Amino acid sequence: MHVFNPYEIRGDFPLLSRGIVYLDNAATSQKPRQVIEAVARFYESRYANIHRGVHRLSMEASEAYEGAHEVVAGFIGARSWREVIFVRNATEAINLVAYSWGLSNLGRGDEIVVSVMEHHSNLLPWHSVARRAGARLRIVGLRGDYTLDYEELERAVTERTKLVAITQVSNVLGTVVDVRRVARLAHSVGALCLVDGAQSVPHMPVNVRELECDFLAFSGHKMLGPSGIGVLWGREDVLEEMEPFLYGGDMVREVRYAGGALEPSWNELPWKFEAGTPNIAGGVGLAEAVRYLQRLGMESVRLHELELTRYALKRLSELEGLELYGPPPELRGGVVPFNVRGLDPHTVAALLDQRGIAVRSGFHCAQPLHEYLGLREGTVRASFYVYNVKEDVDALAEALGGILTLLMKEAVAGGK
Ligand code: PMP
Repeated sequence: MHVFNPYEIRGDFPLLSRGIVYLDNAATSQKPRQVIEAVARFYESRYANIHRGVHRLSMEASEAYEGAHEVVAGFIGARSWREVIFVRNATEAINLVAYSWGLSNLGRGDEIVVSVMEHHSNLLPWHSVARRAGARLRIVGLRGDYTLDYEELERAVTERTKLVAITQVSNVLGTVVDVRRVARLAHSVGALCLVDGAQSVPHMPVNVRELECDFLAFSGHKMLGPSGIGVLWGREDVLEEMEPFLYGGDMVREVRYAGGALEPSWNELPWKFEAGTPNIAGGVGLAEAVRYLQRLGMESVRLHELELTRYALKRLSELEGLELYGPPPELRGGVVPFNVRGLDPHTVAALLDQRGIAVRSGFHCAQPLHEYLGLREGTVRASFYVYNVKEDVDALAEALGGILTLLMKEAVAGGK
């Protein structure tokens, strides 16, 4: 398998020239020149509102925006681009399903099953609609090696289950979930399966038909694309049955005014779920980001991150005073959470920032997971992407080594 040369592609990312060691990729990724230029070119030469006019510019902009749906559909193996709905981000994608599908399909006694490692975005929408509908949220735990407890999941999924909402890759632990196994389990009781792909779609090959899921949510900004554009993929027959989420222009085919009353009929997919003027340039930028990733090859992206993760775990496990969390590298994405014994995560992140290294600290929008693991102050998280190199890991390990030495000296001085 040909793995791209990460040193070569670093030149595509203007921000990296600032010299910051960027290890906060699970929060958001940097953007290659190709994406930045595609967005600028679109504004400079083809910009107008979509689906609004018969004039040339509007038609060109509509074509570019629709074409972006096709590019994304191809990337995730969707049967049709009409199954691809552009939203703001993964959060909005999940809320769309919660409000549109959840509020009309959940009732008293029904259950939604999630895992304890979900991001708040895949917990709070379900918590909210469950409360409104009188349904119950069941939360499945982890095994000792930080992988999903599939046996507990099998016990939790029953005839009462209407939906299993699960992340494919944990944004804190990196844990990779066998989503097909979860989807099959959900289907065996007639439930649907929603996959939070925010941390998987940018980092590994994801094919919705192979996953056998019913919904997939992800964000463009974590996969080299612009912020403000994300995707909900849904099975066409399920989307057809759903009520719109937002109401307004473009989602409606026509609104008759018969006998003084409004009679709207909804537009075809995906427009039924894309009310109002969308993030047109964001869609164009996302398509360019997908093309960039396709050139690298998603298998190669995964292998590259696996190699970096293995190397990081090796380097960091050599440091006395560091606690590492998460499953073995083969079972995790490029995410390495840790703590420095005796320092809170934010202090560690601030000390790393002083040394030119960007990492995230705190609960990473997954506070229940941290409580479940007994990590009351949170964690520090280093996370990798295509442009990271071994030298970034070395910089992190050396900086942490320096911080640990300082701590030790202070402890000795304090003990005198
Ligand atoms: N799910 C997971 C697993 C995530 O990591 C994130 C982003 N941290 C989200 C959902 C939400 O993504 P966004 O903020 O782009 O909506």
